[in-house]
Amino acid sequence: MAESFYAVSSAGGGLRLERVTGRGEQQVAAERDVLLELNARVHEAARRFEGVEAEQDPWDFTCECGAPDCRAHVSLTLAEYEALRAEDRLVVAPGHQMPA
Ligand SMILES: [Zn+2]
Repeated sequence: MAESFYAVSSAGGGLRLERVTGRGEQQVAAERDVLLELNARVHEAARRFEGVEAEQDPWDFTCECGAPDCRAHVSLTLAEYEALRAEDRLVVAPGHQMPA
């Protein structure tokens, strides 16, 4: 995603829109939402398969570390994924930085 986005600035009085080209926190957060959504869909789709062993069958989830070039996949069973989500934790590949 190379799109820029706009941030509202109130500097100097009136509100104005500023074009932000760097990777601001907002943008990182937005990308993380996309990853979370992606994994939620994998989970949902996997749940629909009949005969899936939630405790045993690994599925390919996407690393949610949020690094711009990260395309790592993380193998988790549905039960493992659900445990992470239940604790509000992210799916992160081994060695990848957990986002702050
Ligand atoms: Zn990663």
